[in-house]
Amino acid sequence: MRFCILGSGSSGNAALLVTENARVLVDAGFSARRLNALLAPFGESLDRIDAVFLTHEHGDHAGGIGSLKKFPHIQFFANAATARAVQSHLEHRPDWQLFETGTRFRFRDLEVESFAVPHDAQEPVGFRFATGHDGDLFAPRRSLTWLTDLGHAPQNVREAIRGCEVVVVEANHCPDLLRNDTKRPWSLKQRIGGRHGHLSNEAARALLAEVASPQWRRIYLTHLSRECNTRAAVEAAFAGLRVSLAACEFSIVAPGESTPVYEFA
Ligand SMILES: [Zn+2]
Ligand SMILES: [Zn+2]
Repeated sequence: MRFCILGSGSSGNAALLVTENARVLVDAGFSARRLNALLAPFGESLDRIDAVFLTHEHGDHAGGIGSLKKFPHIQFFANAATARAVQSHLEHRPDWQLFETGTRFRFRDLEVESFAVPHDAQEPVGFRFATGHDGDLFAPRRSLTWLTDLGHAPQNVREAIRGCEVVVVEANHCPDLLRNDTKRPWSLKQRIGGRHGHLSNEAARALLAEVASPQWRRIYLTHLSRECNTRAAVEAAFAGLRVSLAACEFSIVAPGESTPVYEFA
């Protein structure tokens, strides 16, 4: 299994996950043209993408689906509430593949499990992707948890990140920068920092520190706010945790950046 983040932040989110038999995107918050440009450095293109897994209907995650109509072979996996919300803005009908939140299903050689997250969307989810089997010498179990756009982390979320190899989690804002921001109205700041908004650097750090799974090898800190966060603020918030989770590499994904490919061992 190979993984990279094509882009992350309020102007768009998408990641590429490749297994032996499947090439999928997690979210499609960029136009088809932009996605192809982001995929090109990895030798990939939308012609070769089999499916998109959608976390929720917000434009920075689902805004590219309209322009993906030129790629009718792509299947879109979402729960019914998310599919309905996205479909209401579309003229064409994508090939929807509906799942129920909380269930586990297979897409080719990829095992997919969705779980509910608290966020101000219809029925937002996180995903846990896995391949292989425990104890299989030739196809050992590998897993990744995708966790962005959530205001706080209930017990089911803490369980979802336990025991996987790779965790993608949002470190959305620095509360001080959010408080002092002059462009956002008070109500929006309340929404971002609220129970159904986004995780702050500190909330993400506290979540990781509490679970602190010995299996983690890579943590991606994502969905950084352009105005209300900085790489330096994220570095500072996670400095101590990086020391205590020494077996694990941290990767901060700032807006406008893609990551190198992570190869599952
Ligand atoms: Zn988002
Ligand atoms: Zn959102």
